[in-house]
Amino acid sequence: MQAIQVKEAGASDQLHLTEVDRPSIGDHDLLVRVKATGVNRLDTVHRQLGTGNFPALGVETAGVVAEAGVKSKFKPGSRVFGLTTTGSYSDYAIIPDDWAMEIPEDWTFIEAAAIPEVFLTAFQTLFTIGKLSTDECVLIHAGASGVGTAAIQLAKQVADAQVIVTAGSQEKLDFCRELGADYVINYKEADFAEEIEKITEGKGVNLVLDFIGASYWQKNIDSLGVDGRLVLIGTLGGVKVDQVNLRDIMGKRLQITGTLLSPRSYQYKANLVADFQARVGQLLAQKEIKPIIDKVFPLKDAKEAHDYMEASKNIGKLILTVDA
Ligand code: NAP
Repeated sequence: MQAIQVKEAGASDQLHLTEVDRPSIGDHDLLVRVKATGVNRLDTVHRQLGTGNFPALGVETAGVVAEAGVKSKFKPGSRVFGLTTTGSYSDYAIIPDDWAMEIPEDWTFIEAAAIPEVFLTAFQTLFTIGKLSTDECVLIHAGASGVGTAAIQLAKQVADAQVIVTAGSQEKLDFCRELGADYVINYKEADFAEEIEKITEGKGVNLVLDFIGASYWQKNIDSLGVDGRLVLIGTLGGVKVDQVNLRDIMGKRLQITGTLLSPRSYQYKANLVADFQARVGQLLAQKEIKPIIDKVFPLKDAKEAHDYMEASKNIGKLILTVDA
């Protein structure tokens, strides 16, 4: 089959379309004929590190079941979407049976491919780990990112929480507001911790969903209220913090944690998918919560998609189509 792989660790010109063996399935797997696949920052990180050829780059797909393992609950011909174990910038990908979700009838493959990685990440960060509840306030950084646009909708529609977002342009902030954010802050023009102090009248937020890391560390700590939680899921702003004042953490009884979805176990992801479907499935099926899709590229143009994402141009998701 054809697949996009990374030749050597580096820039987007290291992506190349090549022939690889079609993966073979186990009893609990689905071999999916890929129709569309999402592009994620994670893919750009894999490319920079020269990792992630398993045998293709990519982590999520939507397509049609070509072969179903003998113990699978799906049949060949079913339309499914989900996280993959074999990469997804390719003609075929494996979705383990318990990670697969059926595509609602009136959805396109492109819409379905925009869901798994960012919605499952936002869901586990806000609810499984972040324990966000209705009367709380959450700060979501990079609000117009793939994960951010999922998180705004989930925080509003599943928890009815108060949502504050940061983003780097007026266009992105306006979009976040349309999605339901209660307050928006341009982090390039204002100190977001000072803005949060004003918005929350000194109380601070209950939860911070952070992709930025080191460059936001102190402002995140300052933005949190008593018993606040910080969930770190990305380090776009660096990995090392020079100075940490431990008294802040004790004084406000803060909980600081981090997570990576990709290396989680089979069972963890199966449970996450089941929880997600139970709490969000209906909202998605009725399109009350929807994937935000910025741009669609053919698979062969994966380089252009990576360049677009790394220039932070996207609002929501970028999708690659394969035989769609
Ligand atoms: P995305 O759509 O590419 O959006 C990322 C956005 O972050 C950019 O558009 C930019 O928006 C902002 N940004 C980039 N560098 C920044 C910096 N130095 N300081 C402040 N803002 C910056 O990304 P995505 O695919 O949704 O992923 C978002 C993050 O979640 C990534 O870090 C990714 O690795 C992480 N992630 C983690 C997990 C996990 O399990 N831990 C899973 C999925 C994704 P502005 O224009 O607003 O600056």
